[in-house]
Order: sequence, then C-alpha cells, then structure tokens
Amino acid sequence: MLNIALFGPPGAGKGTQSQFLIEKYKLFYISTGDLLRKEIAGKSKLGLEAQSIIASGGLVPDEIIVQIIEKTITENPDANGFLFDGFPRTHIQSYILDGLMIKLNTSLNCLISLEVPEELSVQRLLERGKSSGRSDDNEEVIRNRLKEYNDKTLPVLQYYKDKGIYHGLDGTSSIEKVSKKIGKIIKEELSKSLLNIVLFGYPGSGRGSQGIALAKKFGLEYVATGPMLDHEIKLKTETGKKILELYESGTLVPDEIVVQLIEKKLANSKDVNGYIFKGFPRTLVQSYILDGLLKKHGTAISEVIEIEVPTLELIKRLDARSKTDRCMPYDTSTSKIVKRLQEHEFKTVPVIEKYNQLHGVVKIDGVGSFDEVFDKISCHIEGKFKNI
Ligand code: AMP
Repeated sequence: MLNIALFGPPGAGKGTQSQFLIEKYKLFYISTGDLLRKEIAGKSKLGLEAQSIIASGGLVPDEIIVQIIEKTITENPDANGFLFDGFPRTHIQSYILDGLMIKLNTSLNCLISLEVPEELSVQRLLERGKSSGRSDDNEEVIRNRLKEYNDKTLPVLQYYKDKGIYHGLDGTSSIEKVSKKIGKIIKEELSKSLLNIVLFGYPGSGRGSQGIALAKKFGLEYVATGPMLDHEIKLKTETGKKILELYESGTLVPDEIVVQLIEKKLANSKDVNGYIFKGFPRTLVQSYILDGLLKKHGTAISEVIEIEVPTLELIKRLDARSKTDRCMPYDTSTSKIVKRLQEHEFKTVPVIEKYNQLHGVVKIDGVGSFDEVFDKISCHIEGKFKNI
C-alpha cells in the first residue's frame, strides 16, 4: 500500500496535485473537505454540525473528522493506497491517522507539504472563488482559514519531521514542476517497498526457469546476467563485441561489464514490484556490488532463496538436458558440468553463507515437479508481499 498525505495551506494546490496522483498511482482519494461538503449537501447530522464552522473558516471538531474518515477507509480496505488531502489538520488528527493505518495493517509512507506564502494563497483562493461556488472562498473566511492553518495545522509538521517522513516542496512554481517533484519523492518511496529477491541454487536446480516464472507471476524484473550478456552480443553493441571477444578467448567477463548491464537494467525498468536476481551475485565481490547498486536505487535485498537439489539429481538433470536441444554450450561434457558445480561450490556457496548470516536464507526443496517447486516458492513470496 502507498499512503500519502498532501499537506499545505488552503490554496497550496493540494486538490490539483491530487488529481495527477490518483490517476498515476490509482490511490483512493480522501479529501476531508469534500467529504464534509457531501455531508452538508446530504443534510446529515454531521453535515449540519459542520456547516456553520466551515462557513466561518474554522476547523471542524476532530470527533466529526474521525467519523467521516473512518467510514471511508473501512469501506475501502482493498485500495492500492490512500491519498489524504486536508487531513491531518490538527495534532490529534495525526494520532487518528496513525491509528487508522494500524487498523489496516499499514502506515503512512510520506507527508508532502506544499509550501506557499500567505499572500499567494489568498490570491489563488480569491481567483478560485470566482468559479468554485464555495462560500468559504471569500477574503474574510480565507484569512480565517489561513489563521487556523498557521495556529493549528502548521505545528503538525513537526510530528512528521520527527518520524522522518516529511517532504517540504516549494508550491509556488508551476503545476508541472510541482508534479514532477512530487513524482520524484513517490518514486523514491516506492523503491523502498520493492521486493528484491536473490535466487540461488546449483546449476540444474531449476533457478532459471523458476526465476522467469516467478518474475512473471509477481511483476518482478528478472535480472539474469547470462541472458543479458547474450542479448548484448545479439544486439552487436560495443559491449556485446567486447563480450564476444572475451567468450572466444575463454576469459571470464569482468565485473565492470556485468555491473554496467545490471545498472542499465535497473535504470530502465518501469512499474515493477521488485527484482529477482539469478546468476548474480556469484562471488563475494559481486554481493557487495549488488548491495551498492540497489542502494543507489534507494532499495535493498529483501529475500534470499536457495533451491536445494541433491548433487546426484543435479548431474542427472544436467546430463539429460545436454542430450536435448536445450543443451547449453557449457553443459556439453561431464567435465564441464562438474566444473560448473565446483565453481558454484567454491565461489557462490560462501556468498549464500554470508547472506544466511545477514538475512537468513530460505531453503526450498527443489526435488519434485516444476509446479510443486513453483508453488512452494510462490507461497513464500506471497507472504512477503503481504508484509510489504
Ligand atoms: P478544504 O476543502 O480542505 O479546504 O476544507 C474546507 C473546510 O472544511 C475547512 O476550512 C474546514 O472547515 C473543514 N475541514 C476540512 N478538513 C478538515 C479537517 N481535517 N479537520 C477539520 N476541519 C476540516
């Protein structure tokens, strides 16, 4: 869930920016002002209580706000996330918001404050008043609304600064510029909630085919270094030509090239729920590289999974594959197969051990049909997504 609060004085542009955010991120929009106006239009008890307060530019009591907002949230528990406009407006309301988020087993990701000087707010609201039809868009009420904002709402910011989720923005620039800045904050926020999986297993354990299927099911970007290198060769890029030369001379592709390709992949992937790495990191050095690359994108490894298959079964599988048209150039003889298994044992097993100490490695029994193993890994990943 992505939960955002848009903060700022009346006329800061919260409503305008909200339109762009709900469309782009499919968030459920909650504007307490709109909800109150609806109650007034429907002549409900709450509406009647709020009517004169709104007309004078005062703040409606927290007891009324909690009722309308709780109703809206609990009626929409399956929302992608909530966008709050005009809430929280008092210190008490920030506690209310925390409580509501806890009820939904989630939390507020960030509070974005659009900062504009008082006179600009007045100007904008007077302009809006010409067409909004809102009785509270007249100068006397506007001044009172701004006073309420300065006295009761502005101090709420400290609560979010202390929590480390406050983002202040200059709200005086153009709508497009402000949208862009908000987009950047949200992108960083979303990066924090990516699910990044490193999938380990000996050659023949099924990590490649499982990785591709898992990526598809969970909307993850599949990052496998082997296919990425082959892709560059196929495209005949400068890097591809270099890789081909290295392949032909039997030299290992240096980390510098692999890093470049992974970096490109991370930078180009859009709207993904996370990454699934296969075949990388293969060495301790590469494990540090991966930490650095993910950090650069504001994210980190969430889960390390190892598919376990006994050695004899691995040899049986690789040998069987070598006799089909799926035979890989590196599986054409028993000695090559043994060398690959040894490489994994000497270079990659220490990486898995390192992760085991740091995060804990989830071991999945890889013996069984593709679907059986897939279901086991899927079940585990589903649990992780629920936590996010
Ligand atoms: P808005 O549409 O956000 O400008 O809100 C219009 C009016 O509704 C405000 O001036 C307040 O009187 C009332 N209101 C809206 N949201 C709240 C809130 N969270 N707490 C108290 N009063 C609110």
